[in-house]
Amino acid sequence: MLYPEGGGQPTDTGMVGKAKCSFVTKTAAGHVFHRLDQPVQPSSEVLVKVDWERRYDLMQQHSASHLVQYILEDMHQARYVSWRLTADTTERVTMTVAHAGLTKAELRAVDRRMNELIRARRACITRILHTKDEVDAYMQRTGCKNIPYPSKKKGPTRVVEIEGLEQWTQGCGGTHVTNLSELQLVKVLGGSVTKFGYRVDFVSGDRAIELLARRCDERAQVAAALGCSEAQVVPKAAKAHKENRELAASLAKMEAALHEVHTDRLVEAARGERALWHHFDGPMSGQWMAQLVDLFVQRREKQGDGDEGRALLLTSSLGQFVLYAPAVVLKAHGRAVVKAFGGRGGGRGKMHGRLAEGVGRVPEAMAILTAAMEKETKG
Ligand SMILES: [Zn+2]
Repeated sequence: MLYPEGGGQPTDTGMVGKAKCSFVTKTAAGHVFHRLDQPVQPSSEVLVKVDWERRYDLMQQHSASHLVQYILEDMHQARYVSWRLTADTTERVTMTVAHAGLTKAELRAVDRRMNELIRARRACITRILHTKDEVDAYMQRTGCKNIPYPSKKKGPTRVVEIEGLEQWTQGCGGTHVTNLSELQLVKVLGGSVTKFGYRVDFVSGDRAIELLARRCDERAQVAAALGCSEAQVVPKAAKAHKENRELAASLAKMEAALHEVHTDRLVEAARGERALWHHFDGPMSGQWMAQLVDLFVQRREKQGDGDEGRALLLTSSLGQFVLYAPAVVLKAHGRAVVKAFGGRGGGRGKMHGRLAEGVGRVPEAMAILTAAMEKETKG
């Protein structure tokens, strides 16, 4: 039998005869649809095989979610709000409860309590309650509340109970392990306050063991990248991050100072020229040069140079260029100018890109740019 998606648990997959089944869903009328990659002869007898690895993982995560839910209720009176489980085994499971938030120590205590119950091999029992009386008797016996009554439409009530936590039993139609020992372990990965309540992230079973293996690998890789022992990873990373931020701030200051100097020079040089080329013999990036062009334009506007502007071509030893010109010139002639020096690139307002052939042919391009400025603008 393949489990149809429902109650938060993803669909089973598997085989129906020779057909691959990728999705199963149940309609309100109780019909179960299987999505198959090829037709199956009606009324024929077929062998149905479930993808057990996937199903068992989902059973482990789903059963663990009941354990998380019941323990949070038991230890912190946190009512269930919602939960989320996907079939991606690299993903964590999340459960949201009505609570303002737990401390790290409280989360660790939740962790410990759950794993104690796993060690104690507590039973995880699914019960079917057929009548209203059976539900009432169950609630009386266990002290739990809010178990839905059976109905003609939905059929009997199915509940999942964890030995020792019967008081928090809830109705559920999903698939579960029969004993908590099958979970091997549950690991709470963290908690966060969201607009829906308090969200606890966790994993269980093989998913938890795989996660641990990946984390150990990552830690070893980070240590190698930082050139330190695994024990030193956290202080070393924090130090590197701090230094990086300080360097970035210092670099930003230097770039701003450099922009100031070059803006002055360009504005001065542009006084007599309609079109100006300046080559930076340094590792100036396209972004840095584009910022410089913006400052150049701002400065000229501020000084009230009320002509139709200047054209500016900036290049750098990094092999990048920025071409700025009045919109009418850029639109009609920008491509021809860039093509003349073998550049590649585009953009709006300014063109920027890479110099494919160095600056050897830039004078040719400047002749086109100057002619275009003379034709299209008055200055
Ligand atoms: Zn369940």
